[in-house]
This record gives sequence, C-alpha cells and structure tokens, in this order.
Amino acid sequence: MTTKTLQIECAGCHCVGECICDAAREAAGNWRDFDSFAWTRPFDGSLENPDDWTIVYTHNRDSDLIEVSNASVVAEELAPFVESDNPDVISESHSHWMCGWIDGFTIRVFRDGAITAAYRKWLELLDK
Ligand SMILES: [Zn+2]
Repeated sequence: MTTKTLQIECAGCHCVGECICDAAREAAGNWRDFDSFAWTRPFDGSLENPDDWTIVYTHNRDSDLIEVSNASVVAEELAPFVESDNPDVISESHSHWMCGWIDGFTIRVFRDGAITAAYRKWLELLDK
C-alpha cells in the first residue's frame, strides 16, 4: 500500500522519509483512552514514563487467518525488542468484554525524547 518514500531527513527529527513524529506523539499514552481495558502496567510500576508508551493490538479471538498470520509476522519482527534487557516492546494478551481476548504489544514510542527503533519498526509493519 505504500510507495517508497524519499530518503529525506525531516527537519528537527531523525525521520528518514515520511515524518512520523506527529503519529508518534499521538500514539504515546494512547492507553489513557481505553477505559474498558484492564491494563495495569502504568499503575504497577512496571513501565518507566508510562506516557512514552503506546498499546497496539494485532489480533483477537475472531480474527481471520490473514490477521492471525500478519500478527505472527509482527511478533517475529518485534521479538528482538521484546527480548532485550531493557525492552522497548512487551507482549500483551488481554481479556476483553466484547472480543473474548485480544493480543498485541505495548511499545515504547519515546526513549529520552527520541522515537525508538521499535516504534519505527511497528509503523513500518503497519505499512506492509
Ligand atoms: Zn519527524
């Protein structure tokens, strides 16, 4: 769905090609809008700077095969970020009142004010 973006560094940030800074700012802290979720990480001290993190969902109980297979590609691509000592990605599996369960990831969008490689990777995967 994407066309190759030009390799231009956007002003004031480190984006190569299309600037993702706005998307990143919007995504960070998005969990605050999810009142129906029992997501306790921001409150149990397991995240530093909870507002730097975003939560994304890849599939749920009713997902079709395409979604499930996309989700496994995403999981594979994000695995190196999950397995690090100070991870930028955390795997999530939540019960949901409507869909039974949904799986996804908590992704650190900003680390020390800079967009993380993990979040850039996620956006790149979304574009595929
Ligand atoms: Zn940018």
